[in-house]
Amino acid sequence: MASEALPHPERSRSEQSKDAKPPIQPNAETTPAEAVPAFAGSPVMLQYHEIKRAHPGCLLFFRMGDFYELFFEDAVAAAPALDIALTKRGRHNGADIPMCGVPVHTAEAYLARLIRAGFKVAICDQVEDPAEARRRSNKGPVKRAVVRVVTAGTLTEDGLLDARRHNYLAGIAEAGGEMGLAWLDLSTGSFALAPTSEAGLGGDLARLMPGEIVLPERLLARPPLFELFGEWKAALTPLANPRFDSEAARRRLESFYGVKALDGFGQFGRAEIAAAGALVDYIALTQQGGAAYLMPPQRVLPGSVMQIDAATRRNLELTQSLSGERRGSLLAAIDRTLTGAGARLLAEHLAGPLTIPEEIKARLDAVAFFVDRPDARAALRERLRHCPDIERALSRLSLGRGGPRDLAALRDGLGETAAIRGSLAAPGLLPLPEMLAGAERGLGEHGVLVERLGRALAAELPLFARDGGFVAAGYAPELDQLRELRDDSRRAIAALQARYAEASGVASLRIRHNNVIGYYVEVSAANVEKLGGNLGPDFMHRQTMAGAMRYTTVELGELESKIASAAERAVALELRLFQDLVGEVMARRQEIAAAAAALATLDLAAAHAECAVDGNWVRPEIDTGTGFEIRGGRHPTVEAALAGSGAFVANDCVLGEDRVWLVTGPNMAGKSTFLRQNALIAILAQIGAFVPASAAKIGIIDRLFSRVGAADDLARGRSTFMVEMVETAAILNQAGPRSFVILDEIGRGTATFDGLSIAWAALEHLHEVNRCRALFATHYHELTALAAKLPALACHTMRVKEWQGDVVFLHEVAAGTADRSYGIHVAKLAGLPAAVTSRAEEVLQILEKGEQGGALARLADDLPLFRAARPLATPEPKPSALEDMLRDIRPDELSPREALELLYRLRSLLPD
Ligand code: ADP
Repeated sequence: MASEALPHPERSRSEQSKDAKPPIQPNAETTPAEAVPAFAGSPVMLQYHEIKRAHPGCLLFFRMGDFYELFFEDAVAAAPALDIALTKRGRHNGADIPMCGVPVHTAEAYLARLIRAGFKVAICDQVEDPAEARRRSNKGPVKRAVVRVVTAGTLTEDGLLDARRHNYLAGIAEAGGEMGLAWLDLSTGSFALAPTSEAGLGGDLARLMPGEIVLPERLLARPPLFELFGEWKAALTPLANPRFDSEAARRRLESFYGVKALDGFGQFGRAEIAAAGALVDYIALTQQGGAAYLMPPQRVLPGSVMQIDAATRRNLELTQSLSGERRGSLLAAIDRTLTGAGARLLAEHLAGPLTIPEEIKARLDAVAFFVDRPDARAALRERLRHCPDIERALSRLSLGRGGPRDLAALRDGLGETAAIRGSLAAPGLLPLPEMLAGAERGLGEHGVLVERLGRALAAELPLFARDGGFVAAGYAPELDQLRELRDDSRRAIAALQARYAEASGVASLRIRHNNVIGYYVEVSAANVEKLGGNLGPDFMHRQTMAGAMRYTTVELGELESKIASAAERAVALELRLFQDLVGEVMARRQEIAAAAAALATLDLAAAHAECAVDGNWVRPEIDTGTGFEIRGGRHPTVEAALAGSGAFVANDCVLGEDRVWLVTGPNMAGKSTFLRQNALIAILAQIGAFVPASAAKIGIIDRLFSRVGAADDLARGRSTFMVEMVETAAILNQAGPRSFVILDEIGRGTATFDGLSIAWAALEHLHEVNRCRALFATHYHELTALAAKLPALACHTMRVKEWQGDVVFLHEVAAGTADRSYGIHVAKLAGLPAAVTSRAEEVLQILEKGEQGGALARLADDLPLFRAARPLATPEPKPSALEDMLRDIRPDELSPREALELLYRLRSLLPD
């Protein structure tokens, strides 16, 4: 990603000063007609306004010379976001015109910031040669046009993207009363669609985490979706409703893929087509005709991935820890991939575990293959280390914004495929599991292209083709000749310098070059004086400097134009050669995309194997039943965190006839860890990875729910308890017989009896109505009474050992119930003052006595703790002397004088 600390865009002096003449540069890109001070009221400004009007909702990066300038409200909005100075340039309608700008060559870093801050940016470039504009009869500003609109969902540059994650553009549409969802990653060409629904949309978006969502304006006004769209507000791009017309969308897709009907790609619903068509349209709109490469859309069948809602994803810390970092997440713990594409595939798999056993088995076969063959794995991984990101390079080249380095990425990545294919075809490895055999075929044959790129590209490559110098010597004889001409002329200049020095007798005479006046002869002022101010008839004066004079000669001028034209022709030729190479790549892009996909598959399978071997993980068995049998299960991230101490205690979890486990035990005993580890093992198994256990057998889980811990969601105005109840409601309303639910400590955020009652009723509902597999952790021991009533409920507890007045957590799950909660012990560990914990022991004893007597059960009060504790906390105080005296007073019997004296006496009893 682009660095946060951006250099301040420095301007040349001439750009900053209004009085300075515009520099005369050989390659100046502005025309004199738009010299810097003339912006206000000039034809350029009219041009600016016209282009700005055509791109509402975008900041306009308006190319002027070496800068992209922003004006008016754009400048006011962008300057603080970029942390650059807001200046002004002329006046408009009597007011200063605010302006800021960024240098073209570092624009990407600034763009990254603006996109992250939620802006869209229209890039307006000069689309004709300024020299051309000068020659035109109708003098006017150089032609400009928006060449691209940069939005969060349509990024392709490595500097703007995370190499290890997809960046999806999603589209939502509605047709015939159904909703459809489509998503694509412009930077890799992946494209998919699926039906969705008002209820399912939240989960689908949580799975994709799109960078941008296009949707029809009318959907924004749909009340059931208000809250969801509120959460995604920053990513929404509403578009006019007609853009989501399904018939127009179908035609657009057919013409995009050059097919007569979409049936060849699969059977899609109208709403899905409408969404997909709107995306293709949006790409055309933002890429201004750049030919995006998109693979044919894949349909994700309903029910083919495990449904996991946003809260569950967050709670289980699948791709981010609760603090929002990648570190500490499941993804970070298991990611051993070596390529960007492999990492993206892993993140994609983790977001949507499979529900079809055959597909999972195919992935597991591939992993097992590499687990069993460490040498093949190591050899493959060594090759993968040298594979650059082919997918993203290909996409940039398709869109016409690739450079020589993208070609080099293809050369290097595709260059590895032959060796990888060869090693997979080794007789000892055959037959390959189906998925690897497919990948091996997918790698394809790219020898000709790789050889050509190898010959064509120089060792050092510029970022942009227009900079030239990237074609290797010996690749194109014509180019070699031009370069020779250019270099010969440079040598001729050196010879000329020697000749002039000799003729004039000034040994220090130099021929130099700068961008403003080109080549010139420079002689120090002292030497000029020695020669009587005259070097000879050939020398024409150009400039007088502080200590030197600059001249030019006809001969020097001729040589200079030879050099310039040779260099210009060389760059033009290089650009043509570049286009030829790109053309060759484009002709093979399907094969190249297939090779890239194959490399990602291989990378991921070998990475899972690496992880499995490192952690001693096993292959899970997957079937269509509803069993769940984990032996010796471990928590992947907690175990990793405890690594070294080697202290993680493995636990079994066997849900069969007893499909609901009630887990009691003290705080800090490991209940949450146990619950989460089983959910994570299920996810790992269903993405086709090995799992941290000694054995695992899992009946396919179609939906996973978790309610684990919670923090106040103040941003959405919800208290902890509210968050807890919203999440619990989702589970109780949606879980079905194939779901897996983990519920940790529900009812904690409210008063004791309230909480206990909610937990009680929720447990009954899970058991009787949802009938799912569930792990239910609680500190309400009272719930264990339900075991007698609910046949599929089993009680388990975290074992604890008391030793010399101390408590040792064994982190072991055993059948039975906990007899105490050891909260005070944990409070001691946490450092509560000793006075408080010993007082708490006393209060506890009293409370427990009360409970034995049935007192607690009779209490209707929500806060029995305080009621029972109060008499102890405030012992009856002795009456004071003042109170004694007051009590003895008989007011009716006092004379006024006695009353006054009494008042004085009472007052004297009070301390001063
Ligand atoms: P609870 O939910 O019961 O309060 P946690 O699951 O949060 O407890 O666990 C508390 C701590 O105990 C964890 O941070 C971890 O360090 C340790 N722990 C939990 N389970 C295990 C285990 N199986 N083996 C070793 N340490 C564990």
